[in-house]
Amino acid sequence: MTDPRRTSDRPTSACPMAETDAPRPAGRSRRQALAAFAAGAAATMLAPGVVLITGAAPGAARPPGTPASPAQRWGLLIELGHCADGCARCVEACQTEHGWHAGDHGAHDPHWIRLVSATDDTHGRTLNLPLMCQHCAAPPCRDVCPTHATFRRADGIVLVDRHRCIGCRYCVMACPFSARFFTPGALTDQRPHMPRGQGTAEGCTLCVHRIDQGQIPACVEACAAAGGGAMRFGDLADPDDPIRAALAELPTARLRPDLGLGTAVHYGDL
Ligand code: SF4
Ligand code: SF4
Ligand code: SF4
Repeated sequence: MTDPRRTSDRPTSACPMAETDAPRPAGRSRRQALAAFAAGAAATMLAPGVVLITGAAPGAARPPGTPASPAQRWGLLIELGHCADGCARCVEACQTEHGWHAGDHGAHDPHWIRLVSATDDTHGRTLNLPLMCQHCAAPPCRDVCPTHATFRRADGIVLVDRHRCIGCRYCVMACPFSARFFTPGALTDQRPHMPRGQGTAEGCTLCVHRIDQGQIPACVEACAAAGGGAMRFGDLADPDDPIRAALAELPTARLRPDLGLGTAVHYGDL
């Protein structure tokens, strides 16, 4: 796997949308990437505004040895109104992709992504909210880490270097979304593309191994395959990325904006 720790972990901005105007590096044209995507993907219109994308690649694969680009800011848009009742395909896909299991470690079970039931007090609606690491622009998990094991890539993905992690769990306590986990027990079912470390912290990686290969995250792919189309992945810093148009058109919100973390996961119908 390409080493994800290729660039500084310092945030480029406290606000991901403020990164929109960041200069784009020569030779990494987003339009070229989209052209490649269009050539390689099959898209089916399910209903107005709902497109099922199969085999989608949101951008070009990052060549080995090439650092992650600060001109990109990877993120998600999750339209909760499209989440089907009882569907947990995103959770299942993440488990399959990374080999974590609920039930292995009791109270220390990892849940890189979990479904949170939230009730709208005004309308009485109950929402099924997929919750994973929000890949904060100013991540408190990184700020409290004494060994710099937690770091933020230039493209906004927050990761843990398991070789530097000492298992102090400060990050677990610092995350306001309970999106960091500590796995004290023995690990089984390891995946070679994203090995986990016993006694270290972990959480959603935004499927960095896939992104660096020009693929979409496993949960997004599974959601699209299930026909729900609730999850979209894209470059929040690219004005030409379809996720930007969707964010401009739809009423969306981020979790706990009052904390000023600059989260990269946007929710529709929240
Ligand atoms: S959601 Fe939690 S674990 Fe993820 S970057 Fe933010 S503070 Fe860190
Ligand atoms: S558990 Fe690991 S990643 Fe988390 S704060 Fe401690 S050393 Fe850093
Ligand atoms: S982006 Fe990848 S690691 Fe994160 S929740 Fe989705 S499948 Fe899991």
